[in-house]
Amino acid sequence: MIPLLRAGDKTRSLKEIRVGVIEDPNINAANAGGGVFYVTTGLLEKANDDQLRGILAHEIAHDDLGHVAKAQVLGTGLNLGVILLEQIIPGSSVITPFAGTLVARAYSRSEELEADERAVEILQRAGYSKDVMIDALAWVAQSSSAAGGGFSSTHPSTPDRIAALRQLK
Ligand SMILES: [Zn+2]
Repeated sequence: MIPLLRAGDKTRSLKEIRVGVIEDPNINAANAGGGVFYVTTGLLEKANDDQLRGILAHEIAHDDLGHVAKAQVLGTGLNLGVILLEQIIPGSSVITPFAGTLVARAYSRSEELEADERAVEILQRAGYSKDVMIDALAWVAQSSSAAGGGFSSTHPSTPDRIAALRQLK
């Protein structure tokens, strides 16, 4: 996640970054503003490295673009679940997730497309291809449609978003 943060336009100090891990089987991630991000245990358990990278790039892009943060966690103190950036790896067992409910309203469609585009730029600056973002979106769509909720409910219209990304250089 650190190379992705450095590839954004915003120069946030790494000390500003906080990542909360929420005990939630749904695949989800959110930008809460001010360098605070949330990921669910469902995401960490089910994603591979590239899928996680794509999802995080997208959330960092929302922050980078200054989109108004729309996520908060109900029922917990944030610092309980804060973990080190280095520990954000799929399947990690060193983290202690906190209980809580991630409340994230959807961004507008144009904000989502903008964030996807910026996420691709961030990935490319960090040395990855845009396919990382495309594959991550496809994976999310496939993994969360059956269960409902999660990332897809707050990040709608995935087929459109994939089509838009394919048209980028
Ligand atoms: Zn989004």
